[in-house]
Amino acid sequence: MAMRRPDFDAIVAGAGAGGAAAAYYLTRAGLKTLVVDKAQLPRYKACGGAIPQTALDRFPFAMDSVIQAKPEEVRLTFPGRRPVDVSLPGRPVAMVMRQEFDALLLAQSGAEVLDGTAVTGVVEDGAEVRVETGRRALTARYLVGADGAASTVARRLGLRSQRRLGGTLEAEVPLGDPGLRADYGTRAIFCFGAVPWGYAWVFPKRDHLSVGIGRFRPGKVDLRSALVVEMERLGIRLDGIPLRGHPLPCYQAPLWPFWFNSPQEQLSTRRCLLVGDAAGLVDPLIGEGIRYAMTSARLAVEAIARDDLSGYEQAIWQEIGHDLATSGLLAELYYRLPGFCFEVGLRNPEIVQQFVGVLTERFRHQGIGRRILAASARWALQGKPSQPKHVG
Ligand SMILES: Cc1cc2nc3c(=O)[nH]c(=O)nc-3n(C[C@H](O)[C@H](O)[C@H](O)COP(=O)(O)OP(=O)(O)OC[C@H]3O[C@@H](n4cnc5c(N)ncnc54)[C@H](O)[C@@H]3O)c2cc1C
Repeated sequence: MAMRRPDFDAIVAGAGAGGAAAAYYLTRAGLKTLVVDKAQLPRYKACGGAIPQTALDRFPFAMDSVIQAKPEEVRLTFPGRRPVDVSLPGRPVAMVMRQEFDALLLAQSGAEVLDGTAVTGVVEDGAEVRVETGRRALTARYLVGADGAASTVARRLGLRSQRRLGGTLEAEVPLGDPGLRADYGTRAIFCFGAVPWGYAWVFPKRDHLSVGIGRFRPGKVDLRSALVVEMERLGIRLDGIPLRGHPLPCYQAPLWPFWFNSPQEQLSTRRCLLVGDAAGLVDPLIGEGIRYAMTSARLAVEAIARDDLSGYEQAIWQEIGHDLATSGLLAELYYRLPGFCFEVGLRNPEIVQQFVGVLTERFRHQGIGRRILAASARWALQGKPSQPKHVG
C-alpha cells in the first residue's frame, strides 16, 4: 500500500517575526509551507519595534515601506540624575510597527496562510507531525513552533516547562502635539530606575510614540502606575490611551554553560523546533527579541533542510544563546545596582559605545564584560573620560 504523503513539508505555528521569517526561509528552500496563526492577520503586537538595520539587510527585499522612523540619538535617564545622550551616526536602528513588519515578511514568503486558527495540539509519529487546530488536523514533515511567549507547541511537546515570564505594558501615543514631536520625534529614550529589573521606553514612530515598560523577570510590580509616573515625568500623558500587556520570555542562563560551552535546554524533538519567544530567546538585559526570532528561524530551517534537527540546540547556543547568557550576567549586575551602574557605566562613553555596538550588531556580546572592565579601569587610572553629549 502506498504511504500517504503529509499535507505540507513544514507547518509554522505563529506568524510573528520568527514564524514569518521561518516561512520565508522555508519557501526559499523550496519547501511546501503553511503558516497557522490564531489571530486574524495582520494583528497588533505590543512591541517597541526597534531592530538593527543590519538585521533587516539580511533579507534581499526592501523594507523601507515599513520603517517608520530611525532615531538620531538615544537618551538614557535615571530618576534624579542627569540624563546621558548618545548620538547614533548613520541612524543604524530602524523602528517598525509589528503588524506591518510581520505582514511584509509573511507576504514575501509566499507561504500558504491559515489565520484565525489556533494550534491546539501536536502529535509526532515516525514520519510526520500532526498539528491539531480547532477545525481540523493537518500533517507535515516538520513543525516550527513560533507561537510566542506562551507557546502551545512548547507545552504540548513538554519543552521549556521551567520557563519564567517577565511582564510588559505598551501604549501608542499620537504625536499630534508639536512639542512632543520636537522632544521625542527623533530620539529613543530608555528610562532606567522606573521599575526593578527593567526600564521604561519611548520609541519614535512616524506619527506616534510607542511607549512602554518592561520587567524582565517574574515578580509582582504595578507596571501601570510606574509607566504613568515615568511618562508624566517626560510630559507624555496617557489619559484615555489603551495600555496593552504582553509576557516577555527572557533567556535563562545558569552559569555553568559558560564553562562547558554547551546549549541551555532542549528546543527540539525529532520533527519539531521552537524559535523566537517560544524558545525564550529574548535578551534579559534590554528585552530585545526580534532579531533573535529571525535568526533562530534561519537556524531552524537549516536543520530542517538537513533533515536532521539534532544539532539545533548547539547552533542556537553558538549564534544566540552565548550572547544572551552574557547579557544575563550583565543584567544580574546592572539591575542589582542600577543607580551605581548608571553613574559609573552609562556615563562612561566607552562603555556606552560597547552597548551601542552590540545593539547595532557592530560586534557581539561575547567579550563585552572584559571590554567594560578594561574601560572602567582606564577611567579609574586616567580620570574621567570626556563625557558623551549631556543635557541639562
Ligand atoms: C512590550 C514589548 C516591547 C518589545 N520591544 C522590542 C523591541 O523594541 N525590539 C525587539 O527586538 N524586541 C522587542 N520585544 C520582543 C519582541 O516583541 C519578541 O521577541 C518578538 O515578537 C518575538 O517574535 P515571535 O515571532 O517569536 O513571537 P510573536 O511576535 O509573539 O508572534 C507569535 C505569533 O504566534 C501566534 N500564536 C500564539 N499562539 C498561537 C497558537 N496556539 N496557534 C497559532 N498561532 C499562535 C500569535 O498570534 C502571534 O502572531 C518587545 C516585547 C514586548 C512584549
